[in-house]
Amino acid sequence: MKEYRNFINGEWAPAQSGAQFQNHNPADAREAVTAYARGGRADALAAIEAAKAAFPGWRDTTPPARGRILSAVANHIAARREELAELLTREEGKTKTEAGMEVGRTVDIFRFMAGLSYTIGGQVVPHDLPNNMLFTKREPLGVVALITPWNFPIALPAWKLAPALVSGNTVVLKPASQAPAMALELARAFAEAGLPKGVLNVVVGSGKEVGDTLATHPDVVALSFTGSHAVGQSIYQQLAPRMARAQMEMGGKNPTIVLADADLDLAARLVAAAGFGQTGQVCTATSRAIVDRKIAAAFTEKLVEKARAIKVGNGLHAGVTMGPAVNAAELKGNLDYVKVARDEGAELVWGGQRLDGDGLEHGHFMSPAVLTGVKPGARIAQEEVFGPVMAVIEAGGFDEALAIANGIEYGLSASVITRDLTQAMRYVDRIEAGVVKINQVSTGLALQVPFGGVKHSSSNSFKEQGASAIDFYTRVKSVYLDYSA
Ligand code: NAP
Repeated sequence: MKEYRNFINGEWAPAQSGAQFQNHNPADAREAVTAYARGGRADALAAIEAAKAAFPGWRDTTPPARGRILSAVANHIAARREELAELLTREEGKTKTEAGMEVGRTVDIFRFMAGLSYTIGGQVVPHDLPNNMLFTKREPLGVVALITPWNFPIALPAWKLAPALVSGNTVVLKPASQAPAMALELARAFAEAGLPKGVLNVVVGSGKEVGDTLATHPDVVALSFTGSHAVGQSIYQQLAPRMARAQMEMGGKNPTIVLADADLDLAARLVAAAGFGQTGQVCTATSRAIVDRKIAAAFTEKLVEKARAIKVGNGLHAGVTMGPAVNAAELKGNLDYVKVARDEGAELVWGGQRLDGDGLEHGHFMSPAVLTGVKPGARIAQEEVFGPVMAVIEAGGFDEALAIANGIEYGLSASVITRDLTQAMRYVDRIEAGVVKINQVSTGLALQVPFGGVKHSSSNSFKEQGASAIDFYTRVKSVYLDYSA
């Protein structure tokens, strides 16, 4: 078992209360994987204090100097890729292949932001008068809080930390209690890369206590959150009275539309990969396959074939293609949703069962579920499940499919499978989503373009990732210079 303390002011600190907790392997709950100091309000306050004290010094470094630290962190993570991927799998449950890709993505994020450090600046614009200059410059904000979920425990903290730090802010990061090891390993990498003390602080502890302290503290001038809509909305309200800058990226109920002309083998492969990959625990996962009625039966048959071929098991074992739910509560939630769907009239044509034979009895395993006959207004078609549960919804052509796709509160990612370029581009124009894919999985993001949702999936304020990630973490100052005298 690996033991961790919080990382505050450059030190590995026990919780001031002395409290601790352990996390267990979702594939085998008998195995305690990690132990943590359970941070509370006092620890969060100490972290904010350290970040505040470190800010002036860090602000006065240059972006390329900060970028060099990010490069060193990338190298550190790359060198430990195998080891970190294994720990990630043991704590969160995704397969070792999926975990390795996530660690690799983390390396790329730091490399991208390190390179970008040379470009962080402003604009020079013409002045009305001769011998005058108008220009803008970007400045860091101060102490920034980051609150992250468990489903991408290393890449997601990284895609917030890299732009936050390279911009010159100091940070308090609160990772999800379900899988905090990777966030603390990032802190270790930063410490080894020579980050000055107090610039990055990581406090593990409950959302209610540590999260609440960060959301309400006057010295926290900006907060970037990723997680569920309910929590994001409540944090947003805590930030509003002091007008702290807010970035809330939240859930999804993402559609993939399969049009009548689609290559059905491709469609089934993409929908299965986007719906059941990472056990469906992805914000951009396809959970609604909206299929032209003419090809619905043929598509469903192929989708079931794909679901049937998935090998569920411990993500460290060779040949396993889908790991467990992250914990017992998530598994129960997934199975409950299958029941709700059936009670509402859907037909369960494959899976949706708790798996507890063949060595799976100590883990949180289920077979991927395919439900047909789902009505667009049913709960299973409207509410985020965050598990491997696919609702197949039939539509009578493009317009109806689009209306169903948009008839929902969320708007994160969306895909369409078709050979018809005109329909594909109509979809791009009209779909209410922050990410649109054509003949691709709804999951998977390129780190060099902006990412964020619309509607209930986001506060719609600032994008993450890509070069524009810097916008959230900087403010722009306009400078008027007269050199005529
Ligand atoms: P969650 O329950 O909302 O938790 C997210 C984070 O918020 C955790 O660190 C949690 O801490 C903390 N938290 C909980 N209650 C809080 C409170 N009252 N005040 C402050 N912080 C609080 O979400 P999750 O179950 O970890 O993650 C799944 C959700 O994340 C899904 O809805 C998924 O769609 C979404 N997600 C969105 C994106 C995106 O980019 N849009 C990406 C990934 C995931 P504890 O762990 O200690 O409770």
